[in-house]
Amino acid sequence: MDKIYQSKEEFAEQYRQHVRALSGKEFEDTSDIDRFTALAKMIAGDSRVIAAQTDERNRVEGKKRVYYFSIEFLIGRLLDNYLLNLGIRDLVAEAIADMGGDLDVIERQEPDPALGNGGLGRLAACFLDSMAHEGIAGYGNGMRYRYGLFKQEIVDGRQVEVADEWLSKGYPWEVKRPDKAVRIGFGGHVVSRQEGDRTIFSVEGTQDVLAVPYDIPIVGYGGKTVNKLRCWSAEPIDEHFDLDAFNAGDYTGADRDRANAEAISAILYPNDAGEHGRLLRLKQEYLFVAAGIRTLLDTFEREHGKAWGELPDYVAIHTNDTHPAMCGPELMRILMDEKGLPWDEAWDIVTRTVSYTNHTILPEALEKWPISTFSSLLPRIYQIIDEINRRWREGFDMSQPESAERLRATAVLWDGEVRMANLSVICSHSVNGVAKIHSDILKASTLKDFAALRPEMFNNKTNGICHRRFFAEANPTYAKLVTEVIGDGWLDDASELEKLTAFEGDASFLERVGASKRANKLRLAEYVKRECSLVIDPNSIFDVQVKRFHAYKRQLLNIMKVMDLYNRRLADPNFKIQPTTFIFSGKAASSYTFAKEVIRLINGVAEVVNNDPRVNDIMKVCFIPNFRVSNAQLIYPAAEISEQISTAGKEASGTSNMKLMMNGAITLGTMDGANIEIVDLAGRENEAIFGLTTPEVEALRASGQYFAWDIVNSDRARLGRIIDQFVDGTFAGLSGNFESIHHELMFNNDYDLVLKDFHSYVDAWESLTSTYPDAQDWNRRALHNTAMSGWFSSDRTIREYRDEIWHA
Ligand SMILES: *Cc1c(COP(=O)(O)O)cnc(C)c1O
Repeated sequence: MDKIYQSKEEFAEQYRQHVRALSGKEFEDTSDIDRFTALAKMIAGDSRVIAAQTDERNRVEGKKRVYYFSIEFLIGRLLDNYLLNLGIRDLVAEAIADMGGDLDVIERQEPDPALGNGGLGRLAACFLDSMAHEGIAGYGNGMRYRYGLFKQEIVDGRQVEVADEWLSKGYPWEVKRPDKAVRIGFGGHVVSRQEGDRTIFSVEGTQDVLAVPYDIPIVGYGGKTVNKLRCWSAEPIDEHFDLDAFNAGDYTGADRDRANAEAISAILYPNDAGEHGRLLRLKQEYLFVAAGIRTLLDTFEREHGKAWGELPDYVAIHTNDTHPAMCGPELMRILMDEKGLPWDEAWDIVTRTVSYTNHTILPEALEKWPISTFSSLLPRIYQIIDEINRRWREGFDMSQPESAERLRATAVLWDGEVRMANLSVICSHSVNGVAKIHSDILKASTLKDFAALRPEMFNNKTNGICHRRFFAEANPTYAKLVTEVIGDGWLDDASELEKLTAFEGDASFLERVGASKRANKLRLAEYVKRECSLVIDPNSIFDVQVKRFHAYKRQLLNIMKVMDLYNRRLADPNFKIQPTTFIFSGKAASSYTFAKEVIRLINGVAEVVNNDPRVNDIMKVCFIPNFRVSNAQLIYPAAEISEQISTAGKEASGTSNMKLMMNGAITLGTMDGANIEIVDLAGRENEAIFGLTTPEVEALRASGQYFAWDIVNSDRARLGRIIDQFVDGTFAGLSGNFESIHHELMFNNDYDLVLKDFHSYVDAWESLTSTYPDAQDWNRRALHNTAMSGWFSSDRTIREYRDEIWHA
């Protein structure tokens, strides 16, 4: 790898200059934040030099460009990642130590932008890293929210949401490009005029805003490719600053245009609940789609002229879920209304350029908009969608008995709504799910009518993770050990991790694997002590469930296990529990009452268990507030049990299951999402699998024979006890009982089958933890999981997208 700095001295001299130019002070006299800002700006500048070389290379080679449209990019901190990818991490750390500083401290100054909710946004970020590593000309296109997802605080056990002011100290990685701003029109009405035999449409009377891009460099491992992530911010078109209003004391009124425009990119909406139907959300979706499409067409025109028919040869547009579903209609609009192409030609170009990833089969999560809202905000786009829908129906073979039902299921406009998933499918040449079982369910149920009509467009791309961030960077002790025995080729090619299987019988190596896990547990214990004022025992098992709170992810099942163990231990002091720390972390959407109650329950149980001297030498419950990429990188490496316990058939893929596996945790999970691939790779005997399978869940639901009361009545001693404890004050000390959870289980008949899977889950936990004292065999299984996890690198996933979808 060609390094941008050849020696510590060369780096140190440049760095000192940057610090001086930024703060006017010598390095020794600066604050940590100044040191961070100067270093990030310097690396960003170096990256832009490589970006220019990358651009030039792409142009000369005529490379196909891939535009990855995602309304979320959960990128995490970048500094450490870029130093690693540029091959200068050690050199920089040593140089800064020589200067009397500490790179770790400097790195912790970096804001962790919460521009995503969870898995979907993190996937997009991992893909950017892997595209750059694979040398793909790949560009992220997203939103620059002024406030990311809320910051979570815990008060009396409850989640409290606080605004996330991630920009307050500046963000040195981004560069604003006002010269690349795009005018975006909302509202107005469609007008038409004749030009020869063609009807030309346009929109008049729109209210316009400016989409202004901020570019963040994406540095690929190996330092050869630097791509970019372009995030759009909304601004007023021209300042209508009302001096009269201002002078009359109406300060807000004076700047109303600015406030209205900026509202569009003010906040990231939480998923799981509440964002549907919000006008601002629809504006966000159109803004980043329209601005991104405009940009890519300008680039294409500069390089290839007006040969629009060649667009699919040089451009791939990938839509991450349905939020960018307007890519198809917007591209149609420009090709027809501005470039003068007829419908059929434009449609052929669109459907050969656009592809779509589905992320969920939860029906309540499928995005829909009222036609009335949609057509008044985006009249021309609506008109095009209406025509897409009309042609879809017109071309439908109605001769089959199932035709009517099939048409109903696949139509874009139905029941007064615009159905974004159907729009995404119809505008695309490829539809993929994100794990094998998820792609199968899409074909068999969620999108089965499309699959019957166009089976060839459906495919699977099992998710992946950036193994450099979530293993090399997050777990330096273990990574060092791995490199010592198999070399560092695995950073480039994660499949090389499989070479570790040769060490599964090496007792002294396994002992060192255990020691590195212990170091990571100590590191997390320090963090927990700082953040939660809680002392946890690094000799106990670290049992970890960290992810968004959602009913189907069943954090409730996990905490009921803790309640059960607690109850049984109090009833019988001889009941043996392997000492364990139960670690939870994650946010609930602010409007998702049930999920927030589960958070409160976990904290209520923690309050009791952690303060009960009869048990607290063998169990502790720990809720780490404000889960985000930066603390995820501390938590995953310390985990020994990876809780992946969703109701079978509900978790599309999951990616924390992969991160935890790679870091040597054993999966305690259902046969759901990518857990199935984990079992395929590492062997069922090296994980702990329990619970109903997807077909069993379906059969049980279909039978109508599931009765929560029967299950509870058949086990009054354990389950009945827990059910009572939701409402009898046992865990009510912090902020009251948990009636709504009791109600969900007993009167809503336990939709997520928590009670049904309870016993097999607790049995699986007891059986797994009983093997913990055989440290050597535990470490062997941990190592085996790491060794077999290389397939989950997002480098592999991206190569599959490249070869089978983008043909780039
Ligand atoms: C990986 C990751 C997720 C996804 O977790 P799942 O368990 O797969 O839902 C969510 N949040 C963050 C911060 C992550 O790094």
